[in-house]
Formats: sequence, structure tokens, C-alpha cells
Amino acid sequence: CGIVGYVGTRDGVPIVLEGLQRLEYRGYDSAGIAVASKSGLKVHKAKGRIRDLQSTLPKRIKGTPTIGHTRWATHGAPTDENAHPHVDFSGRFAVVHNGIIENAPHIKDRLVADGIELASETDTELVAHLIGQAAVDHEDPVAAVRAALRRVEGAYGLAVLDAQHPDRIIVARLGSPIVLGLGDREMYIASDVGAIVRHTKQVVHLEDGEIALLEPDGFTTSTLDARPVQKVSERVDFDA
Ligand code: GLU
Repeated sequence: CGIVGYVGTRDGVPIVLEGLQRLEYRGYDSAGIAVASKSGLKVHKAKGRIRDLQSTLPKRIKGTPTIGHTRWATHGAPTDENAHPHVDFSGRFAVVHNGIIENAPHIKDRLVADGIELASETDTELVAHLIGQAAVDHEDPVAAVRAALRRVEGAYGLAVLDAQHPDRIIVARLGSPIVLGLGDREMYIASDVGAIVRHTKQVVHLEDGEIALLEPDGFTTSTLDARPVQKVSERVDFDA
């Protein structure tokens, strides 16, 4: 339902939680965040309101690349386990996702046949495992995300953290909006510009079939079939 992310020099959690709160009006049944650091991924998620999640968070979660999600369940009941982010079997990738994976039953059968144990009933968790599997053959995490998404049918706006690169966020869009916000040595992502407009008015809208790699100093965009794309940022006219 709602996606917010931050990579830069500040701690990401308060920025992402505040952004998610700005999307609360859309409705949701659970919320969660993930932070990447050299020591791995930290994931906190809970059924209920953002303030319920907030009250369970350790006092201070340090770290910058942070992604957060408010979920509107389509696959699996609203529970703590089904809340996003979802982490792959290797513990390296965390994924938040808006939309529906249409071929989820097929992917699930394949993953189970591969011996992967599922921690939730969601279509989103399947995408996390596909990325984990693709990363075995693709050293470049963007290439791994592309390879995973080639196995997916359906609609998504998604954001991915990679514990091996705790200074990056990868996002992709097909049928569900993702916007990038450009800051000064910091970058934002959101499913709706209203979540980040108090931080930056300079934005880039991803188009369907595009993927972006964000680092504090900039971003690169390409298509899902690996053609580079030059994006032009625009200034949003929006009062925070
Ligand atoms: N299909 C996903 C789920 O049920 C994402 C739902 C959403 O867009 O929030 O977990």
C-alpha cells in the first residue's frame, strides 16, 4: 500500500516512519521497516498502526538505508509474519512491495521444491527469495533483481535493501507507482510524493518497466531488460 525509503547520512528510521504516517490516510493493516548495516539487516514489523510498530522499536536503531511499508493485505491475513519487509532465505535482501504477484502459486511451488521454507503467506516473500536465488548467479544486485522480476507476473512497486551493500536501495516499478526524491547527499523513495515532499521537491518518476539504484550521491536507472535510461528530474509543486 505505502512505501517510503531513505539512504543518506542520517538515521533512516525516523524519516521513514514519518513518511509512512503521511500515507496513513490510504488505510493499511500492518507496518514495518528494515535497516541495512554492515552487521546485516534489522527488520521490525507488526500488525496494526504505525504507532504500534513504533512502540516495539528499540530506542535507537542506527543506520541509513531504510525502507518501510504499510500493508493492505491481498495474500495472507494481516499478521505480524505477513507484514513487510520480507527477507530472503539467505538473510541478505529485504523487500517491501505494493501490488499483486499473479503467478504466486507457481513461484511458491518452485521455491518449496527448491527446499526454501516460507515464513509468511504473502506473494511478496516469494519475490525476496527469487532475488536471493538470482544473486547466486548475478554478482550485481541490480542484475539479480532484474532476473528475479523476469520470473514474476503481476503488478509491483517495490524497494529492496541489500545487506552486502548497506549504502544502496534498489527500486522497481510495474503497474504501481514509485517516485525518487533527490536530496543533498541523500535520496528518498516513495510510492506517493506526499510522503517525502517535506524533504525535497526535486523528484524523478519511475515508469513501468524501470529499475533504479539509489546511493546517497545519486542514482542510475535502467529497464528491466537492462537498457540504461536517462531520467530528468522535475520540481513538484506541493505544499508539505
Ligand atoms: N500483495 C502484497 C501483500 O499482500 C502487498 C499488498 C500491498 O500492496 O500492500 O502482502
